[in-house]
Amino acid sequence: MAKRFTKKKENFICEHCSWAVSGTGYTNHCPKCLWSKHVDINPGDRDEECSGLMKPVDLYKEGQNWVLVHQCERCDIKKRNRISEDDDFDEVIRLSQEIADKKMKK
Ligand SMILES: [Zn+2]
Ligand SMILES: [Zn+2]
Repeated sequence: MAKRFTKKKENFICEHCSWAVSGTGYTNHCPKCLWSKHVDINPGDRDEECSGLMKPVDLYKEGQNWVLVHQCERCDIKKRNRISEDDDFDEVIRLSQEIADKKMKK
């Protein structure tokens, strides 16, 4: 019944930066540019039909973990994701600065 947290190993090409992502089963965003794709209803189920690209719009630290917030460019839904060890940390830092800059300008 409950299809939550299904694990699927899959490789995919990032539609934002064309990086070849090798899936670990938990991968839901590109480790290079940190963009994601709206393919899950529940994490890992790939049941969402939207398939819009999801832009990283917010990034913050929660305890020891970095949390990335993605917003779908097609349907505007927002989702929280944990940064994984495989992610490009330089990009995480760059993005956090970019987001901080944007917040300052508001
Ligand atoms: Zn990418
Ligand atoms: Zn969407």
